[in-house]
Amino acid sequence: MFRSLFLAAAGSSHLERLVESVPVSKAVVRRFVAGRSADDALRVSRELADDGLAVSLDHLGEDTRTMEQAAAVRDEYVAVLRRLRDAGLTPAAEVSVKLSALGQQIDDKAAYEHAHAICAAATEAGTSVTLDAEDHTTTDATLETLVELRRDFPSTGAVLQAYLRRTEGDCRELATAGSRVRLCKGAYAEPESVAFQSALDVDKSYVRCLNILMSGEGYPMVATHDPRLIAIAEDRARWFDRSTGEYEFQLLYGVRPEEQARLAAGGHTVRIYLPYGEQWYGYLMRRLAERPANVAFLARAVTSK
Ligand code: FAD
Repeated sequence: MFRSLFLAAAGSSHLERLVESVPVSKAVVRRFVAGRSADDALRVSRELADDGLAVSLDHLGEDTRTMEQAAAVRDEYVAVLRRLRDAGLTPAAEVSVKLSALGQQIDDKAAYEHAHAICAAATEAGTSVTLDAEDHTTTDATLETLVELRRDFPSTGAVLQAYLRRTEGDCRELATAGSRVRLCKGAYAEPESVAFQSALDVDKSYVRCLNILMSGEGYPMVATHDPRLIAIAEDRARWFDRSTGEYEFQLLYGVRPEEQARLAAGGHTVRIYLPYGEQWYGYLMRRLAERPANVAFLARAVTSK
């Protein structure tokens, strides 16, 4: 109920204007987002690198309505990849891209070309791209784009969402040699016809998917903050004889930083998903939906202004 409320709010432009009118953005930016500019993204990437953490930079923007906006998103990624390389932050830093931000809903061929250009820039910078997963109506199109991109850029990462009933099958398809696969629970409001609804069913699906990925030939990227699932992933890595370079943990910037440090200190590769940019609203609402305590955090930020 709480979760659906905030996920519905993520799509409300009326509420977005209301939230934006509150001078809260600074506190929010500090907790979950690197900042509004590429300079902020580079500065925080450097700080995280100094702490032994890798990053996946996400330029926030899922509100692309024109192909001009889509081209601007492409240009932003290409530019930030060059800056990451020049700053010596690659290969540890990669980027995460939402195809919707590249215009997938408007012109999927052009969105593919933009994604291709970003992958080419990533290759030049000595790093890779991961295609974020969005709501279930886009899953087929995104996985098809992934297959096409991997022909030229085999290291392009996929994201699979354990809450979708189809995902075990997708894990089987993608657990192949060299295949980078991020496994997350899933962050959108999805109907029962396509997605498990209870937390327990989602967790069980996550473990089944983890078993497939860890026992397969690909490179699992375990994206969760859930202590039980992290412990199970550590166990499965041992069970399937994977060394620490043969999988990684991924966590969101600002979420469980003490766990990020603990995993890195234990010798694991830990990648922090680091968003930056002006369009923080939808991202923030999904983070609020995940944890009631975050609402208290937001409320404190508003009232302290
Ligand atoms: P939960 O059961 O939600 O949380 C477990 C515990 O983690 C909580 O009890 C709490 O202690 C802590 N926690 C979790 N979330 C928060 C938070 N927001 N603030 C504070 N504490 C929190 N989803 C997609 O749909 N597509 C994607 O492409 C995608 N990419 C992701 C990339 C990364 C690196 C990560 C970590 C997540 C990504 N997600 C994505 C989001 C994911 O689907 C979940 O919505 C999110 O990670 C919360 O699920 P959880 O596994 O952490 O478990």
